[in-house]
Amino acid sequence: MSGIITRFAPSPTGILHLGSARTALFNWLYARHYGGQFLLRLEDTDQARSSQESADNILSNLKWLGLDWDGDVVIQSQRQQRHQNVAQQLLDMGKAYRCYCTPEELVAMKDDALARGLHPTYDRRWRDRTDHPAGPFVVRLKAPLSGEIAFHDTVQGMVKVDAEDLDDMILLRSDGTPTYMLAVVVDDHDMGVTHIIRGDDHLTNGFRQLNLYHAMGWTAPSMSHIPLIHSDDGAKLSKRHGAIGIEQYRADGFLPEAICNGLLRLGWSHGNDEKIDQEQAKAWFDGTSLSKSAARFDRDKFLSLNGHYLRQRTLSDDGLESLWHDVVHEPLDAPALSPDRLSDAACRVGKAILPALAVRATSLCALRTQLIPYLSPCLENPPVLSGDDGSMLSELIPILRDLSPWSSHCIEEYLRQWSQEKNLSFGAVAKPLRLVLTGQTISPSLTDIMVALGKENSLLRMQNSVNASPRA
Ligand code: GLU
Repeated sequence: MSGIITRFAPSPTGILHLGSARTALFNWLYARHYGGQFLLRLEDTDQARSSQESADNILSNLKWLGLDWDGDVVIQSQRQQRHQNVAQQLLDMGKAYRCYCTPEELVAMKDDALARGLHPTYDRRWRDRTDHPAGPFVVRLKAPLSGEIAFHDTVQGMVKVDAEDLDDMILLRSDGTPTYMLAVVVDDHDMGVTHIIRGDDHLTNGFRQLNLYHAMGWTAPSMSHIPLIHSDDGAKLSKRHGAIGIEQYRADGFLPEAICNGLLRLGWSHGNDEKIDQEQAKAWFDGTSLSKSAARFDRDKFLSLNGHYLRQRTLSDDGLESLWHDVVHEPLDAPALSPDRLSDAACRVGKAILPALAVRATSLCALRTQLIPYLSPCLENPPVLSGDDGSMLSELIPILRDLSPWSSHCIEEYLRQWSQEKNLSFGAVAKPLRLVLTGQTISPSLTDIMVALGKENSLLRMQNSVNASPRA
């Protein structure tokens, strides 16, 4: 195992979205590529906004995506004592100080700065005072007063700010609780995190956190700030544009492998490769080739990848079994299926038909909807045929009953020969046959369907339609 340790540190204040799922994926891939560890920490310092429901949502969706973490989930709020100890250490070292400003004073300070055309930052009035009164105080970091705060970001390159632009940030609030800035640095340090990949909305935090690392004499992790995901019209990803929770993509019938592949391509590339499965991604994702420009979300690309992975699953017995499982059991926004009520015969037919249906499908929802008519021996409403078509099919029924073997090749050969003998085009036979077998005018290969349905069900469907149709 290498010394690489990455982490995903979501705040459990909402559900897992595309953007945060991508952050998790990149950190996971980086760790897995180097044989390191991927840790998970729930940053619940904002107790008022954090919820168990949100934590459950994040964890279950990470699991669904296949992003397994090492060790136990670290709960930030349970480490409060340690955060307070570090704040105390900083006070003892003279690298932090108590600030006794009241909220009113802070507002006045801000108004005054604005009135003078200055940036409204805290003016450090308690930084060097030793006349500590009784009463509430916050603990602030003594940030450098001059020079530059700079670091090499693996995505952004050399980044820097003037020390003057950063104020003395609060480490402990007046109720003694740690701020995010303190907690994140202490936890990353204690967890041995070596690499942080996260959205570039955290870049400014990076400078502040660096000050804290320096104050403690700790080595800061390598940082990679990736541009946020935008919608295809360049705007920030909004609900309308795909910023919905991962669970909604799941309900929409996406496979986790398609979501991961789609996310991977949002901000990372490997030549012109588009279809990159998780094993390949692990082999290739070495932390380079992260893009500096904003990634654009394109739902159609995700759908096309989904179609690809649906078909991939039909290529092996295990894959087909897992596809069947998902079509039947996933919590989809699609017509309900009662898995317990499916007979063995229905399961057999269903599994046999899946590869043919998957040829055109782009979601599990579509697959389930198309599958349902095949799961009962006959159609609920047998299509009614014209008199001629009805006669033709009633003539075919006894002949097909004798056909052996019941294979795609044999059925096709026979139907072609029979239509020739009758001076009919193959289509003239296939069209009504398709309709009575599937209830639809478009379907996968006719003979594949007949084989999947089996001889008995195929003939039953034909007979039901013949019975429902007027005689010629
Ligand atoms: N908890 C922060 C968030 O959810 C992430 C902190 C970090 O990655 O440093 O945005």
